[in-house]
Amino acid sequence: MAGRVIRERRDPLTKAERSELMSKVRSRGNRSTEMAVESVLLALDIRGWVKHPNDIPGHPDFYFPRPQFAVFVDGCFWHSCPKCARNLPGSKRHFWASKLEENRRRDRRVRSQLRRLGVRAMRIWEHSAATGSWSPRLMRMIDLSSSKRLSGPIGPGTYSAY
Ligand SMILES: [Zn+2]
Repeated sequence: MAGRVIRERRDPLTKAERSELMSKVRSRGNRSTEMAVESVLLALDIRGWVKHPNDIPGHPDFYFPRPQFAVFVDGCFWHSCPKCARNLPGSKRHFWASKLEENRRRDRRVRSQLRRLGVRAMRIWEHSAATGSWSPRLMRMIDLSSSKRLSGPIGPGTYSAY
């Protein structure tokens, strides 16, 4: 049952648990990727986050104040997901290319602002939002972030994409 999953957060989900979780998420009929992520968080009883805090660079979609951990749920097209790598629309190709480059620049800027503030961050791509495949990683990051290791310098590997 879900209750056991909730109490034993460190254990990776079994296949059965994962598919139970996914059916819950799907049954809510969420369309938007952010809602899909929120559903997974709630289903796993991961609490302690706020949405779109104004005082955190980039206004992350989900933010955990205590371990200072930001989660961005990013659209594959708008943020140039390397896995989906969709072709630019045929017309106005130039317009789209510069638009997407602008987004990439902004993402990089936000990332370094967060690093300076000691905020770890993780990106969840639209294509994996509803699968929950990112959740073990997220749970590990929360545990890591609240440990003493945060006091050290934050290396380039702290921003990860799933
Ligand atoms: Zn993608």
